[in-house]
Amino acid sequence: MKKVSVQCRNIRLSYGSTEVLRDVNLDIAPGEFFALLGPSGSGKSSLLRLIAGFNRHTNGQLLVDGQDITDLETWRRPVGLVFQNYALWPHLSVWDNVAFGLVERRVDKAQMATRVGAALEMVGLSAYGQRRPSQLSGGQQQRVALARTLVVEPQVLLLDEPLSNLDKTLRVQMRQELLSLQRRLGLTTVFVTHDQEEAMTTADRMAVLDQGVVQQVGTPMQLYDEPVNAFVAHFVGTMNALPVVVKSAPGLEAGGDGAWVLEVGGAVSAIVQVPSAAAAHRLKPGEAAWLCSRPHHAVLREPGTSGGEQLLWLTATVQDREFLGEFVRYRLADASAQALGLHVDAPHRAAQVPRGVGQSVLVGLDLSQARLLPR
Ligand code: ADP
Ligand code: MG
Repeated sequence: MKKVSVQCRNIRLSYGSTEVLRDVNLDIAPGEFFALLGPSGSGKSSLLRLIAGFNRHTNGQLLVDGQDITDLETWRRPVGLVFQNYALWPHLSVWDNVAFGLVERRVDKAQMATRVGAALEMVGLSAYGQRRPSQLSGGQQQRVALARTLVVEPQVLLLDEPLSNLDKTLRVQMRQELLSLQRRLGLTTVFVTHDQEEAMTTADRMAVLDQGVVQQVGTPMQLYDEPVNAFVAHFVGTMNALPVVVKSAPGLEAGGDGAWVLEVGGAVSAIVQVPSAAAAHRLKPGEAAWLCSRPHHAVLREPGTSGGEQLLWLTATVQDREFLGEFVRYRLADASAQALGLHVDAPHRAAQVPRGVGQSVLVGLDLSQARLLPR
């Protein structure tokens, strides 16, 4: 099958006077598994429905394989949408649910039988054609919805939170199944989710959406390692953010030495340097910023032990901890038990005794891994 691109150019959408998509620009490559990640209400479903033709944009262009499909009726578009709630017909058998789109398109009986049979086989439900949706598990209903969409042979597959109604184990299994099916078919896929892990584990590239605005597009690793703002940084993982003020920018002052010089405020009071690569932004001296780092880019030591290069050391107490198997996540407070908003992930080994709540520790934040983001 031909692999096609999807492009959104300056797409705007309003419901009445409420703007829900603002100048959305996306370039989705042929055959790509593209995730659209954002909190509830950020406009993810609105954008999918717009690509499928259920919403009309007020501005901009929507291209599939380079052709503007804005004026194409929904059913003529080369796209298939799997709805979040599956939207199966309860009174029809699995077979008839899957056949539905072909009946609509007046496909002849013989061809219909072949295509429905193939679609059910693709999702592993050949034996279930005569059942009603209510006689299937959530995961099986999900597969019927997928078969019903694939049977019309779309060039673009749109999935709206396809796994959110399933329990955790099935969700992990189904996301692998979806991905391998997508790879096999080479179908350009837009996968909507509010689950950061789901997006990161499946996507070739992803976009983070907030309040109808695309915040950043990139590979999961790019977004995790180089978020462009605090929203993305927090949304794709846990982030430690210390408030700082820029004292000098790389190359601006003698002695700055190609590094950022920062004054760390709040409970921590220190002047630190971070590599120039910590920020792609043009932050100016005097400007407020966040010094951000991930929980596994920090270490815990006994108070009084000597520090090390490239680390910002601060004293803290353990506020609480969570044992997650691979590591223990500590939340830290200052000496007066005020939360610092800092998390440290310490790798766990068998028989290792974790630090207790209230215990005093020295925290070292790895400044070579830190990022400087606008505040
Ligand atoms: P998401 O899928 O990211 O949760 P939606 O695209 O469903 O977000 O919704 C985006 C915004 O548009 C929300 O504020 C929602 O309340 C609003 N909205 C969605 N559908 C409609 C509609 N048919 N009429 C009016 N407002 C809507
Ligand atoms: Mg939605």
